[in-house]
Amino acid sequence: MRRTPFQARTFRETVVGMEETLELASFRGDDDPCLIAAALACRVCLSGDVEWALRVGDFDAEVVCRCRHCGDARTVSLTADQALRLSLQAA
Ligand SMILES: [Zn+2]
Repeated sequence: MRRTPFQARTFRETVVGMEETLELASFRGDDDPCLIAAALACRVCLSGDVEWALRVGDFDAEVVCRCRHCGDARTVSLTADQALRLSLQAA
């Protein structure tokens, strides 16, 4: 009987690809606070006056950002490093 490890991986990639497309945060875990603020800044009006809430799951993390200026809200996916960095940063 043939083993099919690649088939399993392809299936997983297919499932992941079917999920809603999420924005990926652009900062690194060791970036300065100003770079993190820039990464979370509003994409609509470019305001940096954004409130955000960290949501950490078992396998992934995301941050929900809401602009205090225009009210635009969006969800940004985070790597483990980014989630740790945000958890250490005061909102
Ligand atoms: Zn805005």
